[in-house]
Amino acid sequence: MQQKILIIEDEADIAESIRYNLEREGFRTEIAESGEKGLRLALNDKKSPALIILDLMLPGMSGLEICRRLRREPQTRKVPIIMLTAKTAEVDKVTGLEIGADDYITKPFSIKELIARIRAVLRRADNLEMRRYEDEQLTIDFEDMRVFCKGQEVKLTRKEFALLENLVKNSGRVATRQSLLDNVWGYSYFGDTRTLDVHIRRLRQKLGDCSDCIETVVGVGYRFISNKKQ
Ligand code: CA
Repeated sequence: MQQKILIIEDEADIAESIRYNLEREGFRTEIAESGEKGLRLALNDKKSPALIILDLMLPGMSGLEICRRLRREPQTRKVPIIMLTAKTAEVDKVTGLEIGADDYITKPFSIKELIARIRAVLRRADNLEMRRYEDEQLTIDFEDMRVFCKGQEVKLTRKEFALLENLVKNSGRVATRQSLLDNVWGYSYFGDTRTLDVHIRRLRQKLGDCSDCIETVVGVGYRFISNKKQ
C-alpha cells in the first residue's frame, strides 16, 4: 500500500514541488497550507500519515507548536516528523529535535536529499516496530525478551535488555548517552551517567563473542553494528 505523507507548508510553490516529486516516488500526499489544517488532517483522518513534513515558518500556529501538539496526541505521537527550517534559525532546529521531530532539512534543499531523508526516517520508524532481530551471530526476540548469541541463550536483566533493544532499534545510528538514559531509565532519572557505562560493560560481558556489536562512540554514546551480511 502507498504510504501517505502530509506536507504542512504555506508556500504553495514549495509544497507543490514536494508533492510532485513524492508522488513520482510512489507516495501519496496531502497538503495543508496552514498549521491548523495540518493538525486537523493529521488527527481527524482514520489513518495517520506515514510521515509529516512540517515547515516551521507558518502563519498562525507555529511549526514548533504543531510539533508539540502532534507529539502529545496518542494518534500522532509516533508519526515521524521532518522539519523544514530556514538557514538562520539554528535555535529552531535544536528546539524542534528536543520536542520530538525526527530530522530537519534546511531551506533551500534539494528534493533528492529530502527524499533520502524521508526514506531513512521511515526505515527507522519501521525498526521501532521490529519484533525480532537476527544476524549472523545474534538473535533477539523482542516480544519474549530473549537473546541468543551463536545459538546460546544470554540471560539479561530487564535494564540490560532494554538497553540492547534501544541500540538495536536505532541500528547504525549513534544513541547518545542522554537518549539511552531517557529511554531506559526514564525521563525522571537524574542520576550519574556512569550507571549507563556500568550496564553497557555488563551487557558486553554477557554477550561475550557477540559483544562487538556495541561500539563506543567516544564522548557521545554507543552504536549498534549489525552483523548482517549486506
Ligand atoms: Ca513557510
